[in-house]
Order: sequence, then C-alpha cells, then structure tokens
Amino acid sequence: MSADCLFCRVVAKRIPARIVLETDAVLAFHDINPQAPTHVLVIPKEHFRAIGDVDPVTAGQILATAHEVAKYEGIDESGYRLVFNTNEDGGQTVYHVHCHVLGGRHMTWPPG
Ligand code: C5P
Repeated sequence: MSADCLFCRVVAKRIPARIVLETDAVLAFHDINPQAPTHVLVIPKEHFRAIGDVDPVTAGQILATAHEVAKYEGIDESGYRLVFNTNEDGGQTVYHVHCHVLGGRHMTWPPG
C-alpha cells in the first residue's frame, strides 16, 4: 500500500466505492465519473504505478477480471473497450494502475 495513493485507500475501504467484483488480487468498482453507461475500473490490490510496472501474472488477472466485469454487466456480446491510460500523454491521472472497462454504447475511433 502506498500511503498517499487514492486507489490504495479504495482497496483498504477507506474511500467508498461501488464494488462490482473482488478477488484476493484485484478489485473492480464503478468509475465515479462514468464516460459510458458501463464504466468500471479494475485495479490490482497491490500498488503499481502504471501498466509497465505490473508483473505478467497480475496483468493477466486484471484482464481476466475485466472480461468478467463485461460479462457481469451484460456487455460482453455487444462489445466493450479496455483502456489503460498511461503516463501524461496517455491521460493517466491516478498513478495506481487501472483498466477502464467501457461499454453500453457504440465506441468511436480514434479516441480523443
Ligand atoms: O485513466 P485515468 O487515470 O485518467 O483515470 C482515473 C479515473 O479514476 C477517472 O476516470 C476518474 O473518474 C476515476 N476516479 C474514481 N474515483 C475516484 C477518483 C477518480 O473513480 N475517487
């Protein structure tokens, strides 16, 4: 746990979150400012700054959980998008790695 990390405080249940799924390794919760009808964040419970710092096993757990979230939210067949905003140009604002699971509407390309 990183003392000054927002998502570490979510993991510790010190900040409330609408949890979708939880395992020993990861937590999935609704984004506080949703950009689509479904917008869930999947985070490892262990603190990693960004996707490049994550070990392959944890990365796999994040991705597998993201797909479970899509199934749970009923968007796995219609389609969804997974996003890891990474560092400044990637638009990352919270430096505890997180996978955005977005769906429930048609996604456009390219992203902004
Ligand atoms: O990828 P990026 O770092 O920009 O995403 C951070 C996300 O965390 C934002 O979508 C923001 O709405 C979300 N957030 C949240 N709960 C908080 C603070 C931020 O869901 N307490």
